[in-house]
Amino acid sequence: MDVGSEPIPTLDALGVVMEATSRADDALRLAATYLDSSLVDLLRIVGFDKDYVSAEGSYLYDTTGRAYLDFHTGEGFASLGHNHAGVGEVLQSVIGAGLVDGVQIHYSPLAGILAEELSQRLPSGLDAVFFTSTGAEAVDSAMKFARAATRRPRLISCESSFHGVTLGPLSLVGDDFFKEGFGPLVPGCDVVPFGDLGHLEDALRGKDVAAFIVEPIQGRAVTPAPPGYLEGAQEICRHYGTLFVLDEVQTGLGRTGKWFALEHGALEPDFVLIGKALSGGYMPVAAMVTRRQIYDRAVGTLERSYVHQSTFGRNRLSMAAGLATLRVIERDGLVEHAERMGAVLYDGLRDLQARYEIVKDVRGRGLMLGIELQAPSSRLARFSWRLMQTASAGLFPQLIVIPLHRDHGVITMAAGKNDVIKLLPPLTLSEDEAGSFLEALDSVLADCQEDKGKNWAVMREIALGTLSRKSRAS
Ligand code: PLP
Repeated sequence: MDVGSEPIPTLDALGVVMEATSRADDALRLAATYLDSSLVDLLRIVGFDKDYVSAEGSYLYDTTGRAYLDFHTGEGFASLGHNHAGVGEVLQSVIGAGLVDGVQIHYSPLAGILAEELSQRLPSGLDAVFFTSTGAEAVDSAMKFARAATRRPRLISCESSFHGVTLGPLSLVGDDFFKEGFGPLVPGCDVVPFGDLGHLEDALRGKDVAAFIVEPIQGRAVTPAPPGYLEGAQEICRHYGTLFVLDEVQTGLGRTGKWFALEHGALEPDFVLIGKALSGGYMPVAAMVTRRQIYDRAVGTLERSYVHQSTFGRNRLSMAAGLATLRVIERDGLVEHAERMGAVLYDGLRDLQARYEIVKDVRGRGLMLGIELQAPSSRLARFSWRLMQTASAGLFPQLIVIPLHRDHGVITMAAGKNDVIKLLPPLTLSEDEAGSFLEALDSVLADCQEDKGKNWAVMREIALGTLSRKSRAS
């Protein structure tokens, strides 16, 4: 794709698109000045400071026209690939139709239809939907509804979990790193070890827990729930009258090779939380889905009917993007495709694991996969690994992530304070694209096999730079 010669769209009388296109190479300066300068610094350190100017399908394009294969998709929000033409057309025709929006006393049919279609794809009884703009807001809604419906104060989540960064969900996040400096958080929130039913039962025994919230596959380090854990947790929750909440913000809508990850087991949760992919890659939209009885117990009286609302929650463009997304997934068989392409990637990654000592584990489901790394056994490699750990936990995977991006134009992501590289390619991934990814990874791993290679030297430099910045700051 020759990006430089792309025509500027004509429907741009106010010059907004023209300016965004012509100032693409100014984006990072603007971000550093007016948005988030420390994140820009981080992007610069790892060489991710590209001026992307356009995106289509599985690829982003920078100002030089170089293509980047996107195995991150904004943590899965561009699940249909970037700028999906079908969803884009639906959005344009919704705008063109002049539908009513932004009126809190009005329900557009779009919201009802999207709720109906989500409900039809979930276990029966999950038929009451509250739409929000973000996943965090959907989590927050479930926290409130669960408390109100049970009249119980406590909420339990899992160690290493992630549920969003606004104050409510943050109180559930099972990783202190995200919480530091933001306390005091919401009272009554506690964590239990992920995968441990005994601890969960101990936590629920007092019958004062409104809800237990859990991700079917923890997104932070791509950790699937151990077999039987979610079913066991559901049973314990039922026994103690605690509502069982599945956070499928990341795993939902085909990502794991099923419409919802709950279909991998016999699960009938009281709440399912959906986000990210529901956007079609365009609009902020998420949803809390629960049972009518729970919804009504929480806010189902005339006096309480307006106490939990959200201005943009069911705006027409978000609703249309959600509906278009469901229809594209259905029409193009993307759930089955994700399962098939997930198996291709998984097998390829297992093959690499067998050949490269640095690959410790490959795990996940469908197109949500994690590659856990470990230090190779040579002395220099172990020394370098320790240096990186001391500089910053979670730095080590950049040994692979940086050259994948720099040398092969492949975007992946280190998953946080751990040694895991996370893969969330679009559900539309082709077999050729999966093959290109595996080839690129093979080549980077081959280079990293040799502890004197260029990539190790780059990482030691980054680690030393990080350590010296830290010592200057302290
Ligand atoms: N829940 C899970 C499992 C997530 O992965 C995320 C985001 O990464 C959220 C909730 C929060 O979603 P959002 O960033 O849209 O607020």
